[in-house]
Amino acid sequence: MLRLSELNGFWSSLASAQRRCLLLDYDGTLAPFRVERDKAYPYDGVREALSNMIAARHTRVVIISGRTAHEIPALLGLKLLPEIWGSHGLERISPDGEYTPMVLPEDIAAALSAARQESDERSLSRYIEDKPGCLALHWRGLDQQEAEQLRRELLPSWAEIADNSRLQLSSFDGGLELRSELATKANAVTRVLTEESPECRAAYLGDDLTDEDAFAAIAGWGLGILVRKELRETQASAWLIPPAELLAFLAEWDETCADHNGRRHC
Ligand SMILES: [Mg+2]
Repeated sequence: MLRLSELNGFWSSLASAQRRCLLLDYDGTLAPFRVERDKAYPYDGVREALSNMIAARHTRVVIISGRTAHEIPALLGLKLLPEIWGSHGLERISPDGEYTPMVLPEDIAAALSAARQESDERSLSRYIEDKPGCLALHWRGLDQQEAEQLRRELLPSWAEIADNSRLQLSSFDGGLELRSELATKANAVTRVLTEESPECRAAYLGDDLTDEDAFAAIAGWGLGILVRKELRETQASAWLIPPAELLAFLAEWDETCADHNGRRHC
């Protein structure tokens, strides 16, 4: 597991790259968790770091989040937008603000609707987040007993729906998610990077279990980086402790690219 002080090889390859992509998860990675999800603003210093990088145009900066794409700009609070892939890649906002949703196949839409009905029938709507291609049950902020009760109420029916459809049931820090198998961060990473030349150097920064497939997907292009206070088993090849090491990484990235900005991203 590489630490911040051991990335010299990566910085060298980034400096000489023709193209550069910095792919970033949002919650838990750029911003600490908040029970009030609409107030999960970035760590101090992250806005400035991203603003500098976007303005310098040496790097394609892409946020890949499980949130809906439209939630991200207000939280980020940047004048110049990065590219935003929301709902695990099922929708996209380009830096000029153009919105592009992915159309879901009918079978997936029907399975999601059945899952929504299961939660409505149990009067659990207030814990449910309805996103493109995904339903999430959130128990962050509840005590352990209440959270377990919620999980037990919905898990059997959602598991059955997942078994019989192209939806996948997975856990994240603070909830359960039933999601189209097309909606993965790995798919989003792959789609971003296949738009690039093979010479592009990239990194993906994430904290959660839903970032693990993205760590695997980016392996041929650069680094998967776990951003988390405690290390856990992961497919990432490097580990940063937020916020100090995250800010140092962003600063080093910007400095490395600014020193070689004869070759710009655009
Ligand atoms: Mg996260």
